[in-house]
Amino acid sequence: MTVNFACQVFDDAAMKQRLSPSVFESLQNTQKLGNPLDPSLAEAVASAMKDWAIEMGATHYTHWFQPMTNITAGKHEAFLNRTSSGEVIMEFSGKALIRGEPDASSFPTGGLRATFEARGYTAWDPTSPAFFSDGTIYIPTAFCSYNGEALDAKTPLLRSIQALSEQTLRILRLLGNTTSKSVVSMVGLEQEYFLVDREKYEQRLDLKICGRTLFGSKPPKGQELDDHYCGRIRLRVADFMRDLDERLWALGVLSKVKHNEVAPAQHELAPVFSSANIACDHNQLTMEVMRQVAKEHGLACLLHEKPFEYVNGSGKHDNWSINTDDGLNLLKAGKNPAENHQFLLFLCAVITAVDRYADLLRASAACRGNDDRLGMHEAPPAIISINLGNHLYSILKNIASGRRAVTDKAHYLAIGVDALPSLTQDDSDRNRTSPFAFTGNRFEFRMLGSSQSPAFSNVVLNAAVTEVLGEFEEMLTGVEDIPDTIRSIVAKTVAEHGRVIFNGNNYSDEWREEARKRGLPEINNTVDAIDVLISPKNIELFAKTNIFTEDECYSRREILLENYAKVVFIEANTMYEMLTRQIIPAVTKYIGTVAHSYNELARVGIENAELKSMIAELSECESKLISGGRELDKLIAEGHTIENSREVCRFLTDTLNPYMRSLRAYADRAETLLDSASWPFPNYTDLLFRV
Ligand code: ADP
Ligand code: MG
Repeated sequence: MTVNFACQVFDDAAMKQRLSPSVFESLQNTQKLGNPLDPSLAEAVASAMKDWAIEMGATHYTHWFQPMTNITAGKHEAFLNRTSSGEVIMEFSGKALIRGEPDASSFPTGGLRATFEARGYTAWDPTSPAFFSDGTIYIPTAFCSYNGEALDAKTPLLRSIQALSEQTLRILRLLGNTTSKSVVSMVGLEQEYFLVDREKYEQRLDLKICGRTLFGSKPPKGQELDDHYCGRIRLRVADFMRDLDERLWALGVLSKVKHNEVAPAQHELAPVFSSANIACDHNQLTMEVMRQVAKEHGLACLLHEKPFEYVNGSGKHDNWSINTDDGLNLLKAGKNPAENHQFLLFLCAVITAVDRYADLLRASAACRGNDDRLGMHEAPPAIISINLGNHLYSILKNIASGRRAVTDKAHYLAIGVDALPSLTQDDSDRNRTSPFAFTGNRFEFRMLGSSQSPAFSNVVLNAAVTEVLGEFEEMLTGVEDIPDTIRSIVAKTVAEHGRVIFNGNNYSDEWREEARKRGLPEINNTVDAIDVLISPKNIELFAKTNIFTEDECYSRREILLENYAKVVFIEANTMYEMLTRQIIPAVTKYIGTVAHSYNELARVGIENAELKSMIAELSECESKLISGGRELDKLIAEGHTIENSREVCRFLTDTLNPYMRSLRAYADRAETLLDSASWPFPNYTDLLFRV
């Protein structure tokens, strides 16, 4: 099979072919080095892009952007136009490429619109290539308000990439690097998802509306046998994965790894890492293509963080490193980390940044769906800590205490079979329980929810590391003995931020206790997490790094609060509808059936006491469901009367969510009492084991 990689992307090769050498080079300088975009290029690029698009079969273009909804948006416009002489032509101007004008008031703005105009702009992002899909060419864009405030996921990410690049270059110069011209964070996003049968999915209102189940009794088998993770991929799923890969490859997404995940019906996809901006765009695209390809295969792809109770939920792992344009990975430990001063410096910057901004990093993984996942025994607890591995941590501690660090030789594994190749052992074992783990040349942030935009986590990492590197720059400026200063930075980092390092089992209760003693924040729900966006320390960080103004911080928080509330209300309404229109009627009918049998038996003189007690149990359950439905309705109404968005969210977190949990328990009990044909929608076994 031949792979037509990136055949639907207006990439370097396509551009080189169609643009003049000078235009191409100028554009490359913007793309690769972050130089300002020369506006006079737009006309030439637009014209080449249109010709390419039309050859691909496109009739439309769209400014593709990422409003604060975790999904993408775009208005499709045909290339058509009419000339003054009435002739119809295909046209795409430089102006149309550079700027679009969607109505900002129809997207979440977090109050920015109240003070400013409703108009919004999309601005062409020349650092992420346009691509063709379904008759349209998609042009990645940033989305901002009339006054330039960020209303999307991409704008702050681009700002943070620029801040990190400028700051890191200054450090590199101090360390004697004269060749690197730009710095970028590289990101690889592992994406978890569930696949269920489409027909069964269509029969469940909760899956269709909320992307998750709101009811469902415990299935006889879940994930307890550990037989799904990396197990043999079933044919139907393998077909889906093959199609998905082909589609993604054509779109330039380097999908590389695919496997079954821990829960039944759960899977994972990981692409080869790329620059943060492109990686985040590609992740959005991947999620969209996953949904679409699943539908074509008679499946439904669930990207929700916790679609099913009793089995693991889904996350998204953000693998992050800092790299120069000339190929240096500044977080690569190398053979001898103890003597690799550049590495030690950047490592300390990350440790300091993560300890200082643990709250923000936690906030970047906050959403309604993730609340049911974080802190359970399947995902990292809601406490940020760093796993360095004992080996690397002991190197840092040795340096801090002035001892010479041990230089290592490679270790070989003793497998005990001569015919097998000898394997070198890694410096440290994997710690799958850590929310933020060093893996030799990168960090892996494991808290993000599967449905979330990954952009904000990277914004936080870039911003926090930029700030710390600024402080390191001051310490290193003008000093004679750079290695000695770096060793003292290591000592300072271990002393002041060593508390954030934890190499043990993050799932254990002892760790929560220990973390509390160390003073590490544990933020257990979205509402508390969102609050940290407006703490003075964090507002200052974003202001200093030119990523968010204070207004933008408040607007983000408001958007996230509003989103949280809307999601919970939708879940509550869906629950109410399923309860009153599906579950209660089914239970009532079934009680009638059983009662009828009881009476029939009584008629021939058999008094079945067990059957009678079963009717009583069903009837009691039904009463709870009916009164529970009423109460749910009342609580929803009460929630709507609260005006302040922060207070609404508190009410939902403290009152409505727990109530929904308790109500669910009665329905799940009822499910186990009814005969399966009488239950009004597919159960967990149908969903998890019938693909
Ligand atoms: P695992 O599941 O073992 O963590 P995967 O292969 O599933 O590993 O995913 C690892 C991810 O990390 C991939 O997307 C990979 O491209 C990415 N990655 C590898 N090296 C780097 C790096 N230097 N910087 C950022 N991401 C990286
Ligand atoms: Mg993986």
